[in-house]
Amino acid sequence: MPLKRPWRTAYGEDSAIHSVLVRLNAGGVDGWGESCPLYAPTYSPESALSVYETCREFFLPRVVGKEIATAADLMGLLSMYRGNPFAKAAVEAAWWALESKHREIPLSKALGGGAVDTIACGEDFGLEDSIDRLLENIESAVCRGAPRIKLKVKRHWDVDVLRAVRTAFPRIVLHIDCNAGYDLRNDLDTLKAFDSFDLAMIEQPLADTDIFEHAKLQACIGTPVCLDESIKSPRDFRVALEMGACRAVNVKPGRVGGLQCALEIHNMARDSGVTAWVGGMLESSVGAAICASLATLPGFTYPADIFPTTRFYARDAAGVEVRLREKYVLDVNRLWSAACEPNVGCIERVTIASTVVGVTP
Ligand SMILES: [Mg+2]
Repeated sequence: MPLKRPWRTAYGEDSAIHSVLVRLNAGGVDGWGESCPLYAPTYSPESALSVYETCREFFLPRVVGKEIATAADLMGLLSMYRGNPFAKAAVEAAWWALESKHREIPLSKALGGGAVDTIACGEDFGLEDSIDRLLENIESAVCRGAPRIKLKVKRHWDVDVLRAVRTAFPRIVLHIDCNAGYDLRNDLDTLKAFDSFDLAMIEQPLADTDIFEHAKLQACIGTPVCLDESIKSPRDFRVALEMGACRAVNVKPGRVGGLQCALEIHNMARDSGVTAWVGGMLESSVGAAICASLATLPGFTYPADIFPTTRFYARDAAGVEVRLREKYVLDVNRLWSAACEPNVGCIERVTIASTVVGVTP
């Protein structure tokens, strides 16, 4: 999916989003899942290519043709394989879509949420060419009612930017996402300086593999640390909680190994008073509908990273437009009912590779 403008973060620049869609068929019904780890292994060790090949070679042959009653059963079948959470999530999301269709309920209800039909979404800004340009973009989002603003930062695009933004917008809910761009030994002064900007949270300041140093950092700053890249499973989150490494968590079903794992993290966060919210990977409408359904769970209390199609794309890969109502409100079940029947012709037009893993009837 080509982006309208390149998306720049601490780990690099993407000009197009590469995503993997999985369609499972059971009882004459299709369920679509999506996993969107980006083209190259820059955000996580997985890439679109690794997800595609891992699903094709290992995960799908293991589940096709089996009776699978629960998501836990599905994950049990895949438990012999280590890591690869995005690849597991691609298969698992398609299973949940089948579950939703067979039970004739929206995915939000199948997941145990759905008490609300709408969720709040936030606005994100990548690294910009100038502070003036960023301020204009924030002004526009604030005028349209954005409930919170997230800024991507990295070394040399951080404290000065925040000072300018806070001076111009003293009261907005604001947080920063460092995408693992800092180091505790070299950047502690900068990280402490972030404390003076009344940020809702500092997302993933340190290495993507780290929990220990995040605990050390959280102990010496007042702003909540939010873990994103570091939490690749419910176990990671349990360790982070026990170590006091974060007071917020960004839950992306792909990064944590699927919706079942996302639900477990949601429950742990709710029970421990940690702020949880649903992140995104610039998925198509199929993935956006999955993330939005998850975000209806009551423990997700901070606006989600789910974006209208027009924010990033000329056209959605699955032929369904994600729209927000006024003030960044998303109608979850309306999006789900459209995106769970994606336009196969639209998908085929942007397909680079496809394969069928089947059983002989
Ligand atoms: Mg992040």
